[in-house]
Amino acid sequence: MTHTVAAPTALTRPELVTEIPGPKSQAIHARREQAVPRGVGCALPVYIDYADGAWLTDVDGNRLLDLGSGIGVTTLGHTLPTVVAAAKEQLEKVSHTLFTVTPYENYVRLAERLAEHTPGDHPKKTFFVNSGAEAVENAVKIARAHTGRRVVASLDHAFHGRTNLTMTMNHRAAPYATGFGPLAADIQRVPNSYPFRDGLTGAEAAARTIEYLEQRIGAADLAAVIAEPIQGEGGFIVPAEGYLPALQEWASANGVVFIADEIQAGLGRTGTWFASELFGLVPDLVLTAKGIADGLPLAGVTGRAEIMDSANPGGLGGTFGGNPVSIAAAHAVLDLLEGGAPFGEADRIEAALTAGLRELAQTYPEIGDIRGHGAMMAFELVEPGTTTPLAGLAGEIAAHAAKQGVLLLTAGSFGNVIRFLPSLAVTNEQIEYALEVIGEALAHTRA
Ligand SMILES: *Cc1c(COP(=O)(O)O)cnc(C)c1O
Repeated sequence: MTHTVAAPTALTRPELVTEIPGPKSQAIHARREQAVPRGVGCALPVYIDYADGAWLTDVDGNRLLDLGSGIGVTTLGHTLPTVVAAAKEQLEKVSHTLFTVTPYENYVRLAERLAEHTPGDHPKKTFFVNSGAEAVENAVKIARAHTGRRVVASLDHAFHGRTNLTMTMNHRAAPYATGFGPLAADIQRVPNSYPFRDGLTGAEAAARTIEYLEQRIGAADLAAVIAEPIQGEGGFIVPAEGYLPALQEWASANGVVFIADEIQAGLGRTGTWFASELFGLVPDLVLTAKGIADGLPLAGVTGRAEIMDSANPGGLGGTFGGNPVSIAAAHAVLDLLEGGAPFGEADRIEAALTAGLRELAQTYPEIGDIRGHGAMMAFELVEPGTTTPLAGLAGEIAAHAAKQGVLLLTAGSFGNVIRFLPSLAVTNEQIEYALEVIGEALAHTRA
């Protein structure tokens, strides 16, 4: 049996047997509050028992439509049979040796496959770590080793993780860095391209970014520029045409390493292998994580061979990095992507969401901007006719949707964005239902 993505579940609507959260979830949540620190947030205190495709079933027996995929991780659907089978088979063979002690072939093969599918046909090398933040950390180490320079520039509205270095690189101090200092040295943030808010063309936005890079840092001290091709936590900000290639061109001309953080946008999510392709961007280093193994923890740093080899033996790695079970799952993901079907699904989802959201925007001018690619779409809520954020409204929509059994995530530096990161298994009927629920929520806030 061949699955293109997880077999679509026939349900069109969530099936709710209790209120959300139900009594069993509430009981677990009360225990959690005693056992787990509050710094570990919780978007929706519904405790999940099992999942399939685009559906989450909680401990009370409610079936919820998942439009977040654990923040863009289970892109091909929850518990996809080929992924489960690959991981199970590997788990029974060997689950750990440590690649830097006694290696295994599936790691090497995954490095070869990422070299093939990441943008550009230059020689590339890849190594694996456990999380997105760890990939960012390692890319920075490599860029500094390669250039002998100290400063790293990230963009306004960026998100790169929660470690000391990456929390320093994020746009938002709260909640990521506030109170956790001292922060990492030699990180600078520079303006991004945010067409809805800055009104600049790609060339104009790039000129502004480059001016900051030159004046605030200077190429002589700049090791790397890091950019999410489509910014994730920042609110699915799609840069203006030409912005990213102009930055890459400047970086290349000045010996600066250009790092594309494809952790949220990469690997089929946007209807292409990598979101960089949408912009004609060929980065020096490409970071992968979230969707790479459809739910198992894995992250990769792929880049130009001569840059990747700048770190000395022993300088890169980590005990769990490139765990063979996660790698086996990643191969199953790449098998499906190579088959091509997921890209068509992403395009279908983009079309369905774009059409539905445009229709909603005609009734609700609070929807100020609709943007994204593939199964990475969002809308931004503002006072009609302005760019003044309506953060409360995004929260109200998500809360209303949750009560109807639709899991929607918010995003955005101003908290005023609703983002869609559904699994590619989501059907158009399910999307229609979600849009109906969003319409209800908007109507409700007016009443
Ligand atoms: C989630 C994310 C990270 C951090 O990944 P973790 O696995 O949570 O450490 C980094 N960059 C982007 C763009 C992300 O979306």
